[in-house]
Amino acid sequence: MTQDCFVLPGDVVGSSEEFVPGDYTYAKGGLIFASTTGLTKVDSKTRAAYVIPKTNAPPKLSHGDIVVGEVIDLKDSLVIVSLAFKKGYESRPLSDEEATIHISNVRNSYVKDLRHLFSLRDIIKAKIIDERQMRLSTSDEDLGVIKAYCNRCLTGLVRKDGKLACPNCGNNETRKMSSAYGLGVV
Ligand code: ZN
Repeated sequence: MTQDCFVLPGDVVGSSEEFVPGDYTYAKGGLIFASTTGLTKVDSKTRAAYVIPKTNAPPKLSHGDIVVGEVIDLKDSLVIVSLAFKKGYESRPLSDEEATIHISNVRNSYVKDLRHLFSLRDIIKAKIIDERQMRLSTSDEDLGVIKAYCNRCLTGLVRKDGKLACPNCGNNETRKMSSAYGLGVV
C-alpha cells in the first residue's frame, strides 16, 4: 500500500497478510478497508495500517452550540440568519443553513423594535437553543452582533462608549452588541 493515499469508506487500504488493521479500518476477507474518509498511514513498528480522518462535511449542530452567521432578513418579531460556521469548526463551513432569533431571545430585557438591535449584513454570534427548528439566542453577554456596517455608507462600525459609530460619515447606530464586538475573535 502507499502512504498518504486518499480513501473513502470501504476502499481497500491493504491486505491482512502485510498489515494489521489500525484506527478507522476493519479487516474482512483478507483485506483491510477504510471505515472513514481520510489519508492512509502505516505504523512501521506495529505494521498497523490506519486512516487519518479528513472530512469537509459540515459539523452536526446541537443544542448549546455557538454559531456565527449573517443577518439576511428582519421581520417584526424574527431575525433571519444565514449560518456561516460553528465555533471550533471554522474550516468546515455550514451551507444553506438558516436559523432564526425570536424577539424574546434577543436579550434578557424587553425588546420593542428589533430594527434598533439588528440590521441586514450584521455578523452575529449566537447560541442554538432549539436544534430542530434552528432557533438561536443572543441573550448572553458575549452573544449578539460582532460586526456591523453603517446603514448609510456600508463602512464597518466602530465601538465607541458602548455605542457604534461610523468612522466615515459619523452616523451613530445601536445593536445588541456582543462583548466581543470588533475584536475579530469568536
Ligand atoms: Zn457611514
